[in-house]
Amino acid sequence: MSDLLHAQAARLPAAAITDRALDRMPAILADLRALVECESPSSDPASLERCARVLSEVISRRLASAPDRTSDALGAPVVTWRGGRGGTALLVGHFDTVWPLGTLERVPFAVREGTVRGPGCFDMKAGLVIAVHALALLAELRGRAALDGMTLLANSDEELGSPGSRGLVESHATHSGAVLVFEGGGSAAEVTTARKGLANYRVVVTGRAAHAGVDPQRGVNAVAAASRFLLAALELAAPDRGTTVTPTLMSGGSSRNTVPARAEIAIDVRAEEQGEQDRVHDALLALAAAPAVDDARIEVAGAPHRPVMAPEASAALFALVREEADALGLPAVGSRATGGGSDANLTAALGVPSIDGLGAIGDGAHADDEHVLVDGLAHRVALVTAVLDRLAASGPDALHTSDRPNTQGEKP
Ligand SMILES: [Zn+2]
Repeated sequence: MSDLLHAQAARLPAAAITDRALDRMPAILADLRALVECESPSSDPASLERCARVLSEVISRRLASAPDRTSDALGAPVVTWRGGRGGTALLVGHFDTVWPLGTLERVPFAVREGTVRGPGCFDMKAGLVIAVHALALLAELRGRAALDGMTLLANSDEELGSPGSRGLVESHATHSGAVLVFEGGGSAAEVTTARKGLANYRVVVTGRAAHAGVDPQRGVNAVAAASRFLLAALELAAPDRGTTVTPTLMSGGSSRNTVPARAEIAIDVRAEEQGEQDRVHDALLALAAAPAVDDARIEVAGAPHRPVMAPEASAALFALVREEADALGLPAVGSRATGGGSDANLTAALGVPSIDGLGAIGDGAHADDEHVLVDGLAHRVALVTAVLDRLAASGPDALHTSDRPNTQGEKP
């Protein structure tokens, strides 16, 4: 980490941060409840609009100034709040969830036995609440001017891979010294320091229909061609390098006595190294160009859309997070790498120092046991407040190394 971070203004007293974070708990839980009780599946524009309004109200109330409500390139709502001119830290979260409308009836918002339940509580409405309250606490302790360099951006298409908001996230990130992403952390309070890159492919195989009994030789079997393609695609995985190739959907054929004229496969590819994403991409295209069944046609659509978040991108911020957790007397913060993608992949690939998993401590993203640990909420608010304070004191360039790698960008 840069010495600059050590050279700046004195730390806030640990007790001042942790006590006031605890004082905020009723408000934190009230805000979390308001957000969770406004269901917001990624695919439902009206729900997303409602949730954007609720989030805007939370921000206005806690930060004493209203955010901008805009739309991304595909029309999904985005909420952006600026503390001033920005440039020091970009705080990123999303308010869409994977849960369909009506999930709340089955899993209502509840605070019980030390956990919070409710659809999207962990992924990642609690993360947004933590970000807002950390900013509010920083203003409370240091004065409003401390927020000058801070920007908060919340999109609503992250669970779809941020197809519309990617440009916004990237342009804000390039103007920031650091990016903090508030996806849920590990159940033992780990933050996320590395994420695999992700690509999704849709493979459409076209053959020719014929009667399976009368003249099968006239047909071109799309299901057979798709199966051969799939087996070859599986060979592209390199588990020792962290590269996975997973067929996730498959369909084909039209009736039980017709040579199938069409088949379709979905393939999920994840990699720890950027070069591996490119290798698998090129190999899939090469396989499509040479179908194993004569006269079949194979089209592959898709490309890497989440670049690799390498651990180097988060190293300086992770050191800062650990240092601040220690100074606050919180349990040591560990790190974890995951195959799941997030907007941190996008910002890290731009060479902007980025760290993820600063949101709720808990577990069960996208699963029925999704939950947030209540005690972790105040811990995270305190920790993020301290980290933001250090970043604010040292300015936007404190974490930047001289050579910001930019190996991505051109490829979607
Ligand atoms: Zn998420």
